[in-house]
Amino acid sequence: MLRIAPRLPLALLLAGAPLAAQSNLERVVNGELTPSHDYDLVHQRIELRNFDWDSTSFDGRVTSTLVALRPSLDSVVLDMGRTLEVRSVTPSRGFERPGDSLLVRLARPAAFGDTVRFTVDYHGRIRQGYGLYFFKADGRPHRPQQVYSGGGTDGNPRWLPTWGGPADKTTWELIATVPKGLTVVSNGRLVSDRPAPGGMHTTHWRQEKPASTYLISLAVAPFVKIADRWRRVPVDYYVYPEDSALARPLFHRTPDMMETYSRLTGVPYPWNKYAQATVADFVGGMENVSATTLVDWLPDRHAYQDRPWYLETLIPHELAHQWFGNLVTAENWANYWLNEGMAEFMPGQYWGVKRGPHAEQDYYLSEYRQYLTLDARRRMPLATYNSNNVYPKGALVMEMLKTQLGPERFWASIRRYLTRHAYGAATTDDLRQAVLDATGQSLAWFWSQWMYSAGYPEFAVTAAYDSTAGALTLTVKQTQVDTATADSTGVRYATPLAFRAPIAIRVGTTKGDVVRRVTIDRREQTVRVEGLPAAPTMVAFDDDNAVVKTLAFDQPTPWLATLLERHPHLWQRAWAIDQLGARTSDSLAGAALAQAARGADYYLTRAEAAAALARFPEAVSLPALEVAARDTSAQVREAAVSALGGLGGSRALGVASEAWRADSSPRVRASALLALARLGAPNAREAVLHGLDAPSYRDAIRNAAIAAIVQRPDSGLVAALARQTGAEPLPAVALAALTARGDSAARRALLGAIDDDREWVRGWALEALEDQLDAPAAVALLREAQPTLRRERARAAVTEALGRLQRAPS
Ligand SMILES: [Zn+2]
Repeated sequence: MLRIAPRLPLALLLAGAPLAAQSNLERVVNGELTPSHDYDLVHQRIELRNFDWDSTSFDGRVTSTLVALRPSLDSVVLDMGRTLEVRSVTPSRGFERPGDSLLVRLARPAAFGDTVRFTVDYHGRIRQGYGLYFFKADGRPHRPQQVYSGGGTDGNPRWLPTWGGPADKTTWELIATVPKGLTVVSNGRLVSDRPAPGGMHTTHWRQEKPASTYLISLAVAPFVKIADRWRRVPVDYYVYPEDSALARPLFHRTPDMMETYSRLTGVPYPWNKYAQATVADFVGGMENVSATTLVDWLPDRHAYQDRPWYLETLIPHELAHQWFGNLVTAENWANYWLNEGMAEFMPGQYWGVKRGPHAEQDYYLSEYRQYLTLDARRRMPLATYNSNNVYPKGALVMEMLKTQLGPERFWASIRRYLTRHAYGAATTDDLRQAVLDATGQSLAWFWSQWMYSAGYPEFAVTAAYDSTAGALTLTVKQTQVDTATADSTGVRYATPLAFRAPIAIRVGTTKGDVVRRVTIDRREQTVRVEGLPAAPTMVAFDDDNAVVKTLAFDQPTPWLATLLERHPHLWQRAWAIDQLGARTSDSLAGAALAQAARGADYYLTRAEAAAALARFPEAVSLPALEVAARDTSAQVREAAVSALGGLGGSRALGVASEAWRADSSPRVRASALLALARLGAPNAREAVLHGLDAPSYRDAIRNAAIAAIVQRPDSGLVAALARQTGAEPLPAVALAALTARGDSAARRALLGAIDDDREWVRGWALEALEDQLDAPAAVALLREAQPTLRRERARAAVTEALGRLQRAPS
């Protein structure tokens, strides 16, 4: 699964017992959290019909086949949401419904190894978004009628009786009867699609290889299918008819990704087809086995220069799950990183193969920044229940392992892991075992510090050059502290005071470089780099960026300038830019950044250098930013235009105006619009009004216009904002934010939106109001609105919102 914005994982519905107070994380992660049950689920036949979009309900009939794993088994417990209304279980001696479970009393006791089969007939009434998502065609553009399952941690047991734990794999078939005109997409092979009475048709899919039930999928919408192929495997893209022209440019790389992943892992794509279906208001993506579900945000042709997350990360992430998560599954959710960390790791490998080492470093640099942000919120190990860092730290740890083993040994280990546990489950230590068997490396220290411990080394380094000896002595300290306290369950995560870090130190001189490889493993140690042919001009600590770390190393500006200019690794360059960017009164620092912004050989370095120049004097920064604003990369232009917006002056204004008028990238234009507003340009107001109406991928331009209005509102702009409340949620959020600041025009517009003809506009307005106003102000506004509301449904929604607000703690 991948969420739109990186977020902390939600509470995992399907987990076993809560994590008890413990000190031995390794033991708990490797099996103790795996819930037990008395049978092996082997097949489920899932029949669904009578979908009703008004009552968000359906009828279900699920026949489960399982094998008793206990003598005298007389009852079976399945996971099944309590709101599902069971009509009958046959054959059986009756059933009970404790909590979110279904207890079936078997017709006769089963012996160990006996096969048992029973059918559950039920009526499923769904609270929107709990298990299933129903959308009526309500007149909104790009929002056809549909119903789909959330799957994953959203919980398939909320809509069907099954075993929810990931370790027990089963086959299944899904047979859904829906109105003609709607297409059913599910896992596995299409068995049949036949007309049914009453203008309906019945589609039958069969998942023939065992998989975990959290990967069962249902997606029903008026899809068109765009067919592609990898080797002999059908690769299909299911999109709304109006998106059909956008689908192939977006998804056409999928077969090449399948080929690349098959080659890298040594394990061919393991399922008999791959479908990607797009649906409304989805969290992001969910890797349902052989039938991934994705949000319906297909980039248009202008958006590709802005490196859309959808293509760069989402598609290759969900595809990677077909190996990591779907073929080999985390045995329990304390090992969730084996699914998510590996899936987050793989896109960087794909882009590395396709675009070279800078693209690979670029990908993990972004993961590194995400990880540091999450770690600052709460420091947790990778392999633990509900870890907050399974995505970025998982990706980074795998990249570290690959750097330390080298690609040959790394991929041999991955192949061992995937083949040994294929169609089964694994724990964190199973991956260590696979590395041991494939390479002879036990790596207990690596697993201990990176999987089971929290934090990362924080290095503080000083250097002293001895010109007579031709040696540079580095004093390396690890300054991380272990201050975490136990949480309410008694768990306390430890941060090692001394990480083991095999690193290289490169000392550059005018007469050549000297590289020294050392293992740092103490709180403080000195490293002497000898044989320097001349005085150092550059020092790269951890030359290959082999270790996730932070680095405090106060270097002379010329060293940093050389590092930025010469070093091939993007982490080293980004670190140098950070250091140089803080030296705003140092002209050499400014010159180094200006040179990088103009001419570095990779776009990210140019963009980061341009962003850092914003804080430098105009004489240093302006000429470089003017050049960067004409860069071939939209990311560099965006950074330059944004930096110019902070700089001011007529030349900056000229560049921003030109970018707003003529740039082909939506994000550069959005950045230019904000710069014009910030600089108080004479045409800014007109540009903002125009921007409110300008269509762009994911509303980049409109959202910039809205941000500009919130910063400097007037009644005309607020009126224009009010006309946009049907387009997306942000205009209502802006109106609510302005209302909270006492803007009376915004308040009137927000009241109007609460009584709008369109249901979704009313919903967005109420949500924005509850979000942006404090409870007493929101209550006052809703009470004022109540008597004037023309619509029954609006009155009901307002009454509901008042109930929520008055219950909320103040
Ligand atoms: Zn994922």
